[in-house]
Amino acid sequence: TASRLPLRCWAEIDLAVLERNLRLIRASLPAHMRYVAVVKADAYGHGLHQTAARLMHAGADLFAVANLAEAASLRELGPGWPILLLSALLPDEARHVLDYDVAVTISSAEEVDRLDAVARAASRELNVHLKIDTGMGRLGVWHERAPALYQKIIASTNLRLAGVFTHFSSPDDDPVFTAEQRRRFLAALQACEGINLSSLFIHADNSAGLETIEVAGPFNAVRIGLLQFGILPHNGALLSQVHAEPVFSFRTRVGLVKQLPAGSTVSYGRTHTLSRDTTVAILTAGYGDGVPRALSNRGQVLVRGHHCPILGRVTMDQTIIDVTDVPGVVAGDEAVLVGHQQGAQIDLTEFSRWADTIPWETLCSVTKRVPRLYK
Ligand code: PLP
Repeated sequence: TASRLPLRCWAEIDLAVLERNLRLIRASLPAHMRYVAVVKADAYGHGLHQTAARLMHAGADLFAVANLAEAASLRELGPGWPILLLSALLPDEARHVLDYDVAVTISSAEEVDRLDAVARAASRELNVHLKIDTGMGRLGVWHERAPALYQKIIASTNLRLAGVFTHFSSPDDDPVFTAEQRRRFLAALQACEGINLSSLFIHADNSAGLETIEVAGPFNAVRIGLLQFGILPHNGALLSQVHAEPVFSFRTRVGLVKQLPAGSTVSYGRTHTLSRDTTVAILTAGYGDGVPRALSNRGQVLVRGHHCPILGRVTMDQTIIDVTDVPGVVAGDEAVLVGHQQGAQIDLTEFSRWADTIPWETLCSVTKRVPRLYK
């Protein structure tokens, strides 16, 4: 019954735009490049099932998730869909991997031994992707030690090598180090004796990597998250030429309009004092919905196509804005946190900058309370 109530704060997800974005990204790459769709963290808050179904329809070759629970959920939707687990597998998760038929990221000899034993005990074959640390300092075997780990995987009885990959640490702002990471990766691959590169997924590029992608070498897949949702990781020329558009918008409503006199203060902690007689609107969304508290006294919201400043602290369920200069605001009006309204726009990158964060975190911070509406 609650689903029939009017909405107070919601996200709109445009799946047709998502599909177009994937096709545009693909069209910007050589035809042999396979597409790994990164759908971890509930597809960056867009909804795993709805998003993955559309990405599969649009031609994704492989899905990347962060953990087994996400893999299990995706497996329910697509019994035969290929899935890669990006994060480290905990020792006591190893035996569950076979239940969901996921490929596992390998960074160490210990993981090879453990997973090979699990697969052997079940008389099953397990797909793995070898991850090489070329300077991210997170998962992966250090690049100089990658050839030895490659040989160990090849020598295992029940593991099947399906891919080799690395991850960039600064693809958005350090092309020199990104090039060095590519060089280290290619050198490590070359040192893997007997490797048949064309039979494997060889991948490095996330969204930002596309700006400097090397299409002539052995790379034959990309791993895309943010850009498929229409957000540019930075203002690169190549990335802009893809013409991906935002899939997500974030909306709320005006719950109350009222007048406050000059000199009065607004919200917890009295961090804002009104310099004039002011018409404020109280919005029906706060940090309990994912409006960052860091937007206090900093952010803006669209009402009737006007940019309205946030006054004082964002609270759990309500946010106060100045609508003095906007004619005709009434309770019930739509307010746009991220998205378009009457020719005006607040984009996710701008919104995230106001909140001193990044678009990835903003998307992951929209809470469970916020219904996702799909079109
Ligand atoms: N590959 C790995 C290993 C990641 O952790 C991520 C995201 O965090 C991605 C690819 C996708 O990155 P992006 O969203 O920047 O495209």
